[in-house]
Amino acid sequence: MAKPDFYETLGVARGADEKELKSAFRKLAMKYHPDKNPDDADAERKFKEINEAYEFLKDPQKRAAYDRFGHAAFEQGGPGGMGGGGFGAGGGGGFSDIFEDIFGEMMGGGRGRRSSGGRERGADLRYNMEISLEEAYAGKTAQIRVPTSITCDTCTGSGAKPGTQPSTCSTCGGSGRVRAAQGFFSIERTCPTCHGRGQTITDPCTKCSGQGRVTEERSLSVNIPAGIEDGTRIRLAGEGEAGMRGGPTGDLYIFLSVRPHAVFQREGADLFCTVPISMTTAALGGKFDITTMDGARSRVTVPEGTQPGKELRLRGKGMPVLRSAQFGDLYIRITIETPQKLSKRQRELLEEFQELSSKENSPESAGFFSRMKGFFDTLTD
Ligand SMILES: [Zn+2]
Ligand SMILES: [Zn+2]
Repeated sequence: MAKPDFYETLGVARGADEKELKSAFRKLAMKYHPDKNPDDADAERKFKEINEAYEFLKDPQKRAAYDRFGHAAFEQGGPGGMGGGGFGAGGGGGFSDIFEDIFGEMMGGGRGRRSSGGRERGADLRYNMEISLEEAYAGKTAQIRVPTSITCDTCTGSGAKPGTQPSTCSTCGGSGRVRAAQGFFSIERTCPTCHGRGQTITDPCTKCSGQGRVTEERSLSVNIPAGIEDGTRIRLAGEGEAGMRGGPTGDLYIFLSVRPHAVFQREGADLFCTVPISMTTAALGGKFDITTMDGARSRVTVPEGTQPGKELRLRGKGMPVLRSAQFGDLYIRITIETPQKLSKRQRELLEEFQELSSKENSPESAGFFSRMKGFFDTLTD
């Protein structure tokens, strides 16, 4: 599950500049390129990792977000992301523009991910959220702040200064690909002028520098339903990063974890709680109060002669079952605490108690020692 660090993947320092990144990427990508490692699943996986790491780090906005929020808080993935479609598939969900820029010739084309006007789907975002068991019990509406790229409102995502239009690339005539004759072969490659977009922006929008999107922190309201379990993933469709130049928006995934509770342990909808009681309460019977998740107090009766490990069940005092009106149960496990640091008087009383005790007071113990004696007798017969 844990993804390697992007910088480690590329084998560069965190402060590496653009040139170092590109050169490290290029070297590794050459080494693990599927054409050089046919039918090697490890190399293919590595190749994808390298590609994804570079894809992220080459974009200053994404890199800043990655540096700030780390891997876990903010990563690309999910449908349409890097790990998505099969290797070498044409069209969307394939490899990046830069990949094409570098390897366009080698691959012989057919890997174009460009769609009309250079539109690209925005990245999916991951947001880690930790809630308490109380919050999982009651459900909540959480306000989260998500750093994300949104469509630039000045140029409405076109990247061109308002009042101007992106123009058709004169190098490739808008196809995003150029052909070059090389010996007997005619090789198609990504247009170096427009990087495959088919359009060039003569007058870039000043707010987004022609990117068509800007980074902003957005406030989002997330509904956490009552009874939600640790490890749940909530998908908020269309709340991820804005696409490039009007491409579709990615999704936001909330990875939810529930903090361990000081008193209750959870197993599905049931709760468990270990309650130590005194030796005298166990022997004589008694009562104690317990506060349950609904905030109510429940009186628990300890029957006379309660043994350690006994489980008492409070029906319906567990966690709510997700999207239903039902509740799990609360199980109370009894442990018995042997008294310590006896006073002189207590010791006298217990000694007197012991003198008055018979096998009937401790049938388990008596039973065990009589079985042990029987075993010993079979050995010495
Ligand atoms: Zn703009
Ligand atoms: Zn072009």
